[in-house]
Amino acid sequence: MAARHDHATDPVLLAGLLQARHGTAFFARKLNELSDADLGAPSLLPGWTRGHVVAHVGYNARAIARLVEWAATGVENPMYPSLEVRNHEIDFGATLSPIALRNLFDHSAIHLNVEWRDLPADNWHHKVRTVQGRVVPAEETVWMRTREVWVHAADLDNGATFADIPTPVLARLLKDITGAWSARGTDRGLLVEVTDQPSALLFGDAGAESPVKVSGPLAAITAWATGRATAGVTASHGGGVIAPVPGAPAWI
Ligand code: ZN
Repeated sequence: MAARHDHATDPVLLAGLLQARHGTAFFARKLNELSDADLGAPSLLPGWTRGHVVAHVGYNARAIARLVEWAATGVENPMYPSLEVRNHEIDFGATLSPIALRNLFDHSAIHLNVEWRDLPADNWHHKVRTVQGRVVPAEETVWMRTREVWVHAADLDNGATFADIPTPVLARLLKDITGAWSARGTDRGLLVEVTDQPSALLFGDAGAESPVKVSGPLAAITAWATGRATAGVTASHGGGVIAPVPGAPAWI
C-alpha cells in the first residue's frame, strides 16, 4: 500500500531527502529550459551530449531505486549487472527521442521517490552494495542521488553552475572527493583551501613541507575538484602563483 508521506523518521535523513528532491526539481527545471534540438548538443562532459547526461541521470535513478528495493525486500538487486551494461545503457539512452528522454527522466525520478517514500523506517539501515562495490546503508542512496542531480544539472551547460548547489551539498561533495584522493594517496603535496566559509576549511596533504596550494570559494573549489572548471580558483607554491591552475587528481 503506497503511503502519502515518508516512512523515514530520522530528521537528518528527512533533510537529506529534501535536498535530493530539491536537486531533482532543479535538474528538471534546467532540462525543461532546453529545446529538443538542444539535447543533441555537447554537455560539459567530454564525449557526452546533453542527451547522454539526461539518459545517465534517468538510468541512475532506476539503478538507485533497485538498491532501495533491495533494502525493502532483502532480495539482492544490484544497481547494474556490470559496468559494461551501465555504459551501454547510457549510449543507448542518448539515442532516444527527446520525448522519450524527458519521459525517462520524469518517470525514473518519480519511481525512485516512491521507493524512498515507502521504505519503512527500519529498512533505511539495511545494507546494500553500490556499483563501486561499497557496502552502505540504504540511507546512503539519498546522498548518491543528491550528488548526481546537482552536479549533472551543471553538466547540461545551460546556465546552472556550482554556485547554484546548496552549501551543505558542496561541502559534503568536497569532503567525499578529497577523502577519495587521500585514500588513494593521490593528493601528495597538494593543499586545498576554501576561502569563503565562516571558518577556514583545509583539505589534502596537510603534512606536506612545501605544498602546492589551491584556493578559492567553496563552489569554485568543488567545481575544480570534480575536474570541471578552474574559474575563481588560484594556485600557488612557495609564495609564487602557478598559472594555469593545475588539474585536480581524478575523482571517480
Ligand atoms: Zn553521474
